[in-house]
Amino acid sequence: MPFIDEVHLEGKTVLLRLDLNVPLQDGVIQDDSRIRAAVPTLEYAIQRADKLVLCSHMGKPKGKRVPELSLQPVAKRIAELLEREVQLAPDCIGDEVRAMIQDLTPGGVLLLENLRFHPGETDNDPEFSRELASLADVYVNDAFGVVHRAHASVTGVVDHMDTACAGFLIQKEWRYLSKALSNPDRPFVLISGGAKVSSKLGLLQNFMDRADRILIGGAMACTFRKAEGYPVGKSLVEEDLIPQAKEILNKAWDKEVSLYLPVDYLMGPNAEQEKTYGVFPFQDIRSDAMILDTGPATHTLFSETLKDAGTIVWNGPMGAFENPTYSQGSVGLIQTVCNVDALTIAGGGDTDSLIHRCGMQNQIDFLSTGGGSFLELLEGKELPGLKALGIRME
Ligand code: ADP
Ligand code: MG
Repeated sequence: MPFIDEVHLEGKTVLLRLDLNVPLQDGVIQDDSRIRAAVPTLEYAIQRADKLVLCSHMGKPKGKRVPELSLQPVAKRIAELLEREVQLAPDCIGDEVRAMIQDLTPGGVLLLENLRFHPGETDNDPEFSRELASLADVYVNDAFGVVHRAHASVTGVVDHMDTACAGFLIQKEWRYLSKALSNPDRPFVLISGGAKVSSKLGLLQNFMDRADRILIGGAMACTFRKAEGYPVGKSLVEEDLIPQAKEILNKAWDKEVSLYLPVDYLMGPNAEQEKTYGVFPFQDIRSDAMILDTGPATHTLFSETLKDAGTIVWNGPMGAFENPTYSQGSVGLIQTVCNVDALTIAGGGDTDSLIHRCGMQNQIDFLSTGGGSFLELLEGKELPGLKALGIRME
């Protein structure tokens, strides 16, 4: 497998693609988890490479220079974490950048400016890819968050390098996720939640052939209940997905996958307010109310289905957890998941913030750093950034 620990970095200039797209507010980093996640690969590369050239995107500048999306605060934070000097180049390609790399002393680290200031990055422009590749001898990708994107710094650049490999973060993601997909300890349980069935169709379909049990929560469960003919009041429902929801329910029956939907809900006027209408069984939903979280009976049911699990994969919260009033279903389920003697894997943008918010990130076996890439991988899609490096999900 083409991973960094099998590649010779000594004496080389290494181009390291990271996902340093941290949340910024007025130039201040709000959460540096993504930078810290890159540290093992950074330290490994620094100890071996002659010169280290880092690159990343930040936000969506759409091919133009947007000063607010400069990687300057990131350069500073990396320097603090590594306790060494990290310079920021004014651009990511061009003569000035080349000269700065030339001038780096052995062991030096240079961070290139936001890749997406150039339209060639997201367009996967071959000329831009070639320019990037010409800066270094070896390419290392450790940006798991963007491996589902066929962008120049993720795929195009590989065509122009003699040596290309993945870093430790991608290696870890690959180990956990391919274990779950190819050889899970059973029973294998998928927990799927969140707002929309439409964004989880691929996941549900792929897991029909893999999982033993599927637990569905969040607003997406309302579309399933509606498909079965139950009332859902004013809850979020995707009317146009009712046929697909029915199909999934039938498929689960055919394939003998046990599919569980919530049996009670915490209801309220809307997701913003503190005042609730209380807990109701799923058969008795008021027409003027919204389903905003799963209730205690659902918690008991879901916990029962998890207690003998061998592997649990979780994506999507059980309710509108951003409001603490409607977070209990999700928080309770995290506690259950973390106490089960199973391999536990979670991921997704909101699932990640939910787990961080409860401070349970170290209790789960593996919390993916990917949002879209995590989901697409679990959908069974071939991810361009992994394919470019010859990494397959067994
Ligand atoms: P992830 O980013 O982890 O893949 P999603 O984006 O699919 O998760 O879903 C998260 C969103 O779903 C959250 O913003 C949450 O508020 C919303 N949500 C979940 N359940 C409900 C509900 N019953 N009513 C309204 N919103 C909900
Ligand atoms: Mg989300």
